[in-house]
Amino acid sequence: MINRRKFISNSVLVSLGALISPSFAKAESLKELQPIISGDLIAKTPLVISTWRHGLEANEAAWKILQNGGKALDAVEQGVKVTEADPDNSSVGYGGLPDRNGNVTLDACIMEPGGNCGSVCFLQNIKHPISVARKVMEDTPHVILAGKGALRFALEKGFKKENLLTEKAKKVWKKWKKKLKYSPIINSENHDTIGMLAIDENNDIAGACTTSGAAFKMHGRVGDSPIIGAGLYIDNEVGGAVATGMGELALKTLGSFLIVELMRNGKSPQQACEEAILRISNKLVDYRKFQIGYLAVDKNGNVGSYSIHKGFNYSLYSDNENKLIDSEYFLEK
Ligand code: ASP
Repeated sequence: MINRRKFISNSVLVSLGALISPSFAKAESLKELQPIISGDLIAKTPLVISTWRHGLEANEAAWKILQNGGKALDAVEQGVKVTEADPDNSSVGYGGLPDRNGNVTLDACIMEPGGNCGSVCFLQNIKHPISVARKVMEDTPHVILAGKGALRFALEKGFKKENLLTEKAKKVWKKWKKKLKYSPIINSENHDTIGMLAIDENNDIAGACTTSGAAFKMHGRVGDSPIIGAGLYIDNEVGGAVATGMGELALKTLGSFLIVELMRNGKSPQQACEEAILRISNKLVDYRKFQIGYLAVDKNGNVGSYSIHKGFNYSLYSDNENKLIDSEYFLEK
């Protein structure tokens, strides 16, 4: 069954403050936060939003920069680095689940308000691919570096080579190897990128996206996350969007770019995310088997999100409060 609630028009955007549930207000730690339900939301800028619950911690780091008048670009880099360094996160950076051959291979990209961007894909043994992506953006004439070339560049720039496969991730992989069945599980931790968008005090927007990609993917597989326009897109005149979930669907429809273009043409972030999911459902016959979540913000602080299935959520830090918000979704079952 399809859960196609009516699009909310810009004129009835609801204030976020009004949606905070009492249980949310009482939570004492980030882990205890209860989600509130989204639709269109307006948040005060500066702000930072990021995909999933792990975004709460990442937002804290980004917020420190934003509240001190720092730049959106620094905020998103420092924010997602928290998730990249977390050994308990099995879908981003260190501790990420490996490909089917046991290699942790990372994808990341970053985009700044001036329209410049940098990306690394199929990068191994470097804990902070987002910082390498930033170096690609700032220190090379290119946008994307891949594989061994990306690794060589990172080492030249002083990044350290490290083993990123934790004992915990290795155990999960060994268990998977007994069955050798590749079947991405909706909303499970085998694919949960962090995508982050921040608007700073100057009202400039930047974004970052980083992942270890789909667990047990084929060796060499690159997802949507390092592809500008698929996993992330920013336009400083309009807003930004990020994607998470089965990257192939975002790649086939260039979802993040699509959302920003829809916002440019007058859609709210919520409407734009919904239309990008509709595009997937109209074009890709087997879309029901997969999850994709989109998250978007425009330059006025209007926030929207939408996913194929129930279960996608995102974290929003604005007005000195960090919140977890459940996304609306397309399929009832
Ligand atoms: N989009 C990422 C990929 O397909 C994974 C994820 O977001 O969960 O590599």
